[in-house]
Amino acid sequence: MNEQEHYNNVDLPFYNAEIAPVLPPQVLDFHAHTWLSEHWKETPWKTESAGAKYMVTLEQYGVEKLLANGKTIFPDRHYNAVCFGYPTPAADLEKTNDYARQAGANNGLFPLFITGRDMIPKEELERKIREEGFFGYKVFLNWYGDDYGSVRIADMIGPNEMDLANELKLIVLLHVPRSGRLADPEIQKGVRELAMTYPGAAIVLAHCGRAYLPDEMKRSIGSVRDLPNVYLDTSMVMDPTVLQLVFENIDSSRVLFATDFPVASMRGRRVYVMDHWVDIVLEGYPPSAYRVASDGIRATFMVYEIVLAIKRAGEMAGLSKEQITRVFNDNGMSLLNGVMDGRQMRRRA
Ligand SMILES: [Zn+2]
Repeated sequence: MNEQEHYNNVDLPFYNAEIAPVLPPQVLDFHAHTWLSEHWKETPWKTESAGAKYMVTLEQYGVEKLLANGKTIFPDRHYNAVCFGYPTPAADLEKTNDYARQAGANNGLFPLFITGRDMIPKEELERKIREEGFFGYKVFLNWYGDDYGSVRIADMIGPNEMDLANELKLIVLLHVPRSGRLADPEIQKGVRELAMTYPGAAIVLAHCGRAYLPDEMKRSIGSVRDLPNVYLDTSMVMDPTVLQLVFENIDSSRVLFATDFPVASMRGRRVYVMDHWVDIVLEGYPPSAYRVASDGIRATFMVYEIVLAIKRAGEMAGLSKEQITRVFNDNGMSLLNGVMDGRQMRRRA
């Protein structure tokens, strides 16, 4: 089957039968990337750094391609996204951030500014946020792939950035470091300190704190239960038990649908084997760590597996249909509407 045949024969019938009935008319993806190859200082997976081949993806993923993926994958819905560039030392941050700013000229794209602890002076950061239309930060990852070392959250983002986030009610999208993920006591301490010291900031933990496995989530979720300004994005989380644990422990309004485009535009599913996730994909994607390819399976877009995991988990946890639907748009939109008490949203109108 070629691409179009696969789409018509496999993806679309599955979308119509299983996915569309779960979705609201408008879908907000709270975690999507966009970049051009000219933003690279070096192609991350072509370097010799440890962790470089952790997540091999496209050399270029422009705004047009992001919007086209949204259109293909949600053919009869409006696709909107919180988007940002490539947040590692491989990218020229000024270029990738400026590209995200331009992406924000599109009606349904809400840009985040990639920054980290003391990377730029506070005054400049404030000017960027206020004048260039960013809704907050995607916190910079100062390492390659899974080479986390002993990074702590306080090393990634500091008082300068957080004071501003607290004051302006910004989104702070944080990919937690270390192999223990949100289950690591050091990470839990860091998240709790951030949330309690800066109650005005909306702290969104990418990939549900990277707790892709039920055992990881079981050891994680208690640490954020009482923190109303901590939210979880579902990008690349496809295990219903993980999300069931989430819904049983925190209010579903703190859960935000997300993809991690371009990653979740692959056809396949993230599963787990022993104590680590594995991406099972169809043949044709570049080799990458924890990626296993086979044409011996049927598969559709990973995005649909995320949607189904949310639906199955919501049902098991006893959420209403309306609560499940809100995960796909309303929960995230109300966060965006709260940024700068609505001024950032209004300046787009
Ligand atoms: Zn990401």
